[in-house]
Amino acid sequence: MNTRYAKGLSFARRMHLPRSVGLGIGFFSVAAALYPAGLPTWGWVLLIFNGYAWPHVAYLLARISKKPYHAELRNLIYDSIAGGFWAGAMGFNPLPTVTALAMMAMNNVATGGPRMFAVGTLAQIAGGALGYWLFLPALFPPITQIQVYACLPTLVIYPMAIGLVCYRVALQLSRHKKALHKLSTTDSLTGLMNHGAWKDVLHLQFDNAKATQRPNTVALIDIDHFKSINDTYGHIIGDSVLKRLSSALTAGLRETDQAGRYGGDEFCVILPDTSLAQAIQLMERLRRTVNEHADARLPGIKLSLSIGIAAYGAHLTDAQMWLHEADMALYDAKTNGRNQVMTAKQGFVMLEPMSDEVK
Ligand code: GH3
Ligand code: MG
Repeated sequence: MNTRYAKGLSFARRMHLPRSVGLGIGFFSVAAALYPAGLPTWGWVLLIFNGYAWPHVAYLLARISKKPYHAELRNLIYDSIAGGFWAGAMGFNPLPTVTALAMMAMNNVATGGPRMFAVGTLAQIAGGALGYWLFLPALFPPITQIQVYACLPTLVIYPMAIGLVCYRVALQLSRHKKALHKLSTTDSLTGLMNHGAWKDVLHLQFDNAKATQRPNTVALIDIDHFKSINDTYGHIIGDSVLKRLSSALTAGLRETDQAGRYGGDEFCVILPDTSLAQAIQLMERLRRTVNEHADARLPGIKLSLSIGIAAYGAHLTDAQMWLHEADMALYDAKTNGRNQVMTAKQGFVMLEPMSDEVK
């Protein structure tokens, strides 16, 4: 089903309830106004059809149409013509006329904005002229008590039905907005934050670290010789490796840590409230886990990581500089033989196996 068609159908479905409710209860206000003037039998048949059969016929017309959205807009115009028609037929009896036409105008604005309101108003005028011309009733007859009561259900219930529909649309929009936001900030392969989203978090965390002067650390993690994995085993296996690494990374993190895919085979993580020593331990554990534990699904692949770590310090002027330090540390790890953790300015961290205390 193409999305245009599906959206049109969904629009028609949304309109079905307010139309059924509005015309069903609106029948009474029109009937109460037409009864004293006397209406031919065909007029009553038409009014009953309009009140109780038309909402379902309209829905059916939209459903069988190739363009349900356009069919539903046509239905709204028919609604306005019919509303005007009954207003003309009752000699524009002020209360039921205003009730019916105002409710329809509200519906038209809610569904199609000012343009639909304008088209609907013209349709109401045309319908009004036709209804008046066919029945030639007395103009602006006095309002009776019963007509006032007959209008009350429409005035009370119909706005609620429209409100309910608008509320549902607002909820749906909010859900779509959340889904879109998630899509735009998530890396589709690994499910981690993407580059842009992670950078935004980094800027916030930098400001936070500057304000609180609490220990904060960032790490950049890059797979060693990843290109050769792609070349040897293909990109699908390469993708599995990236997913495996992202799982291993998040498994070792706290909820407050913020991991992302920096791009390609490079990952990034912000470790709030974490000293440099703690970050070294954490990253060293990750490096070892990845290096030592072969994945049964990826036999023959031995992975190693190079990791650069930079702690927040008062000398850093902005988040970019902080990141640059981590990048330089990663560069050192690469140039010093890979498969190791390096810190900014502090040199080598891991060449020898770590002591049990650190593990
Ligand atoms: P080094 O040790 O210096 O990091 O060597 P390397 O081979 O890992 O080099 P580099 O980091 O520059 O290579 C990254 C490779 O990652 C290149 C690119 O083909 C591959 N790559 C980037 N994104 C993806 C992806 O989404 N899936 C797969 N399978 N490969 C990717
Ligand atoms: Mg690499």
